[in-house]
Amino acid sequence: SKIFNFCAGPAMLPTAVMEKAQAEFCNWQGLGVSVMEVSHRSPEYIAMAAEAEQDLRDLLAIPENYKVLFCHGGGRGQFAAVPLNLLGDKLEADYLLTGQWSKSAVVEAKKHARITETDIMTTTIDGKVTVKPTTEWPINAGAAYLHYCPNETIEGIEIFDLPETGVVPLVADMSSTILSRPIDVSKFGIIYAGAQKNIGPSGLSIVIVREDLIGYARKAIPSIFDYEVQAKADSMFNTPPTYAWYLAGLVFKWLKEQGGLVAVEKNNIAKAALLYNFIDGSNFYSNNVDNSVRSRMNIPFNLADDSLNDTFLSEAKAAGLLTLKGHKLVGGMRASIYNAMPIEGVQALVEFMNSFEKKHA
Ligand code: PLP
Repeated sequence: SKIFNFCAGPAMLPTAVMEKAQAEFCNWQGLGVSVMEVSHRSPEYIAMAAEAEQDLRDLLAIPENYKVLFCHGGGRGQFAAVPLNLLGDKLEADYLLTGQWSKSAVVEAKKHARITETDIMTTTIDGKVTVKPTTEWPINAGAAYLHYCPNETIEGIEIFDLPETGVVPLVADMSSTILSRPIDVSKFGIIYAGAQKNIGPSGLSIVIVREDLIGYARKAIPSIFDYEVQAKADSMFNTPPTYAWYLAGLVFKWLKEQGGLVAVEKNNIAKAALLYNFIDGSNFYSNNVDNSVRSRMNIPFNLADDSLNDTFLSEAKAAGLLTLKGHKLVGGMRASIYNAMPIEGVQALVEFMNSFEKKHA
């Protein structure tokens, strides 16, 4: 029977992508070698890399005044790269806190800048976790930028509204939401994402940066993190993560074949609704996030009786439903249902949860 992997990252890739990669693993473009063994300076690789970038631009409708960089160092690499590139002669930056990943970004940024952190979490009258409306977010005109995390992978909190930040560049860690729905890129100064959820293998990070923000990096910045250096070198200042870039390119093509991000979003809404509706209709499972900010990508839930957690996980694994354990900081369960998770995977999960409830409740 089919295996469905609910890992938060590295996450499953589309089956069609894995099959294509497998078919051409040892003989890419008839060259008789793997894409992994080809020079990043070869005409074949350069053409593939440019096509991947163009496909990403098409998918997100990235305006021409933005550079797209394919970098090393994952999401956390960008936690450091963002302040090192953006502070310029300003000393302060603003960070909004909504969960563990936005907090981790602050820890790194504090090594380089004076950071004002604002907790924008709150609770509703029925005790659910939520986020303050964007109109209540602090916008400090003296800050070099405002950083937030639109999808907190651990807590399962997703922010769909966009704030108006005026002249202050908005910086978003979109690691676990990028490409799950259309976004208006022009509202952002920088969007970055570790690849291992909706893009491809870990290690690669994608940076989408408005051109006027490039060129202000601190002198001591490692060159591979300097957006200006990478932009001038078409992300090939040093050897890029070539295989990850190639796989990302296959994922972008697959997303286009699905009908682009409008179609992908529709599917993601249906998948998330299926699971949330089941959880809400049950007295055995619960999710403590308010409807307005529930993540479509990462759905944490608890069992009424924690002592059943291990049994739940082992029975789920036996049923082909992998990696449902919640993050160690919050416990419970978490189903990550990124773009590559088919609706059949969510249906299989709901059926399993239903029969587990009947058996153990
Ligand atoms: N930001 C978010 C929202 C994440 O979910 C993660 C990892 O899961 C990271 C950053 C860190 O990414 P990386 O492990 O690639 O550094």
